Amino acid sequence: MALIVKKFGGSSVADAKKVFNVANLIVEDYKKGNDVIVVVSAQGDTTDDLIAKAKEINPKNPSKREMDMLLSAGEQISISLLAMAIETMGCPVISLLGWQAGFNTDSHHTIARIKNINGERLKSEIEKKKIVIVAGFQGLNKYDDVTTLGRGGSDTSAVAIAAALKADLCQIYTDVDGVYTADPRKVSTAQKMDEICYDEMLELATLGAQVLNNRSVEMAKKYNVELEVRSSLEPHKSGTIVKEIVKMEKTLIKGVAKDNNVASISIVELQDKPGIAFKIFNKLAQAKINVDIILQSIGRNNTKDITFTVSQDNREAAVAVIENLKDSLAFREVTFDENVSKVSIVGAGMESNPGVAAKMFEALSDAGINIRMISTSEIKVSVLIDEKFADAAVIAVHDKFVN
Ligand code: ASP
Ligand code: MG
Repeated sequence: MALIVKKFGGSSVADAKKVFNVANLIVEDYKKGNDVIVVVSAQGDTTDDLIAKAKEINPKNPSKREMDMLLSAGEQISISLLAMAIETMGCPVISLLGWQAGFNTDSHHTIARIKNINGERLKSEIEKKKIVIVAGFQGLNKYDDVTTLGRGGSDTSAVAIAAALKADLCQIYTDVDGVYTADPRKVSTAQKMDEICYDEMLELATLGAQVLNNRSVEMAKKYNVELEVRSSLEPHKSGTIVKEIVKMEKTLIKGVAKDNNVASISIVELQDKPGIAFKIFNKLAQAKINVDIILQSIGRNNTKDITFTVSQDNREAAVAVIENLKDSLAFREVTFDENVSKVSIVGAGMESNPGVAAKMFEALSDAGINIRMISTSEIKVSVLIDEKFADAAVIAVHDKFVN
């Protein structure tokens, strides 16, 4: 007998038929004698639809507190429907909202972080042999106001419960059957991985592989929660295990990811003297803007250029920060480009293998794709290229490494 946490995303509970499909999976595990806690997201596109409704009322700036009140309603619908489906199957079940399940968060409405989970209620329902269905993506702050955890936050809800209650298993069900070496919808030769380590998964999650929310992977790593990514459509097929140590496999590269949500910003003709980069990136940090790749040109005539990338949603704010520095830094101009994409290869163990980056560049060169910027770390190499070549680049690089 084990304590199993299962998480189902919005597409897995999108309609009545799918709700019953999920209910069957839950009941199957319960009938084997397991304790089962289930976390669900809102059905289908419900969260997007709710956001659209808010825009009809106030297109610019509805308060974040009220957005949380609205968005948390999506999960309230899915948990009750799923519980009703399980009731019809004759099993004891109870649905709980985030606050009822003990989720305490900070007060950053719409992007709240979980502070702790008071697991008393969850434990007592489990002791009563009930299947517990918990609303993902939501909690309560210290003022008793409902908060949400940021888009895709239900993965994090599930991992948090698994960590707090020391569950034996945390299964994340989605509409793909595991983590692939590249997006299987775009790259026909993509292969499913049996296992992957947290750091690699984190890079792939952050780089836009979109299987798991990156905060959930961070939390799983911190609390050593082993995750299993599985398909709710083919539930008996084994998925991908995400865990700490993975035995070294033949393939060094775990995956190729693409991120289109990138913009590059260039500051042209800055003075070439100490302290300039500090001023720029300090101001960006104060504005809570994450900078990714940075490139500085060699100085000429006492000037230099600095180019860096940010996520597209931060582009406007970042340019504004730089414009504000114009008087004190006396550069010529700031330009930006949103038609760029970041393509990355990820794999632990890359650092001790020379030639990995060169091999990636060779694949891009053979495909006639120009590299604008490069960055490397112990477990990844990323390049910035024209967005229109991104899919071709992923295929070229994937073919080079994975087959
Ligand atoms: N329903 C929320 C969203 O769409 C949370 C989630 O799906 O994990 O972002
Ligand atoms: Mg872009």
